[in-house]
Amino acid sequence: MRTLAVVGGGAVGLAVAWRATEAGWTVTVFDPAPGTGASFVAGGMLAPLSEGWPGEDRVLEFGAAALAAWPSFAEQLRAITGESVFVADETLTVALDAADAQDLRTVADWLAGFGHDLPVLDRAGVRALEPALARTVRAGLHARTEPAVDNRRVLRALHAACAASGVEIRAESVAALDDLPHDRVVLAAGARSAELWPGLPVRPVKGEILRLRRRPGVSPPPTRVIRARVHGRPVYLVPRADGIVLGATQYEAGLDTTVTVGGVRDLIADAEAILPGIGEYELAEAAAGSRPATPDNLPLLGPLDDRVFAATGHGRNGMLTLALTAALVPGLLDGVTTPVAELAAPQRFPASVLSRGGTR
Ligand SMILES: Cc1cc2nc3c(=O)[nH]c(=O)nc-3n(C[C@H](O)[C@H](O)[C@H](O)COP(=O)(O)OP(=O)(O)OC[C@H]3O[C@@H](n4cnc5c(N)ncnc54)[C@H](O)[C@@H]3O)c2cc1C
Repeated sequence: MRTLAVVGGGAVGLAVAWRATEAGWTVTVFDPAPGTGASFVAGGMLAPLSEGWPGEDRVLEFGAAALAAWPSFAEQLRAITGESVFVADETLTVALDAADAQDLRTVADWLAGFGHDLPVLDRAGVRALEPALARTVRAGLHARTEPAVDNRRVLRALHAACAASGVEIRAESVAALDDLPHDRVVLAAGARSAELWPGLPVRPVKGEILRLRRRPGVSPPPTRVIRARVHGRPVYLVPRADGIVLGATQYEAGLDTTVTVGGVRDLIADAEAILPGIGEYELAEAAAGSRPATPDNLPLLGPLDDRVFAATGHGRNGMLTLALTAALVPGLLDGVTTPVAELAAPQRFPASVLSRGGTR
């Protein structure tokens, strides 16, 4: 049997491990605290279109392919756990001022060039969809094909899928990849990946995020994901069965997962500008995580040398892209690539960057 070590038991590592067993690998996942990293704190939006911006064509192409991979991925998880991971079917990006409304039209025009036709709604159109939003909302970009998942349900389901398919999970940290005796090694250590492969172009981008619980008698959350820009800061509301996930701040702050007063204050103030009733919710949890970001916002999927393989750098879109990552990695381990996999090939960066200890 071929043996595979997966370093990192976040959503990406678990999904890769599960799929690799089906491709005939005997898989061991190493992680001192599986499922507690960025994958645990995430919002769960699957929003490659709404998050797109003219010029980011390759990110859009990869993200749209990842979105298309989700229905079958979710169906396979449901078959194992009996649980659906979806919490919303659509996304609505709203504008509070004329400049933001113009930005929505710019994005809609750019997306149309790739065959994604998203209507831009006026004030009345937005209110007809989501009546609880602020009266100051003047326009909205309606993404009917962009759902959201409950990331914690996804993690639970992936744990169950790994257990059912015989993946061994060891609660151990890996200090050096060379210590692992396995035939192949997948590096899926999220924002810490460059600690194990110095020079790898993956850096932590901090994000703070809140979980709000609906109290009795308080109006229900929006049924769609609501995204906006308030005071120049992105803010989003992702529905949950019991409330709303409210995210997220974004800082270049190294591996810092403390929650700051300023971060919480800004998130709540920005959310109130789009959903005035949010102050009635219970503040149930405040958390922070490290997005494993790359310079071009695409992940790194592919060989780093003849034994070590990267499945990292999923950045702000790792919940979205993990379904595609899981589908691609077993083939890539056997040297089978595809045009969409090429978008994420580590070799798009110079060899000097990818060589262990390389410079950035
Ligand atoms: C606030 C926030 C909101 C987000 N919202 C969204 C969203 O709405 N939609 C979306 O698509 N994405 C979102 N993301 C991004 C997404 O969460 C990440 O891209 C994704 O979770 C990355 O998964 P991962 O498995 O690579 O990393 P992680 O989940 O961080 O897992 C990495 C694992 O590696 C382990 N590890 C590290 N070092 C070692 C070592 N030396 N040995 C063994 N194990 C090790 C860690 O313990 C950890 O469990 C968000 C992220 C943040 C922070």
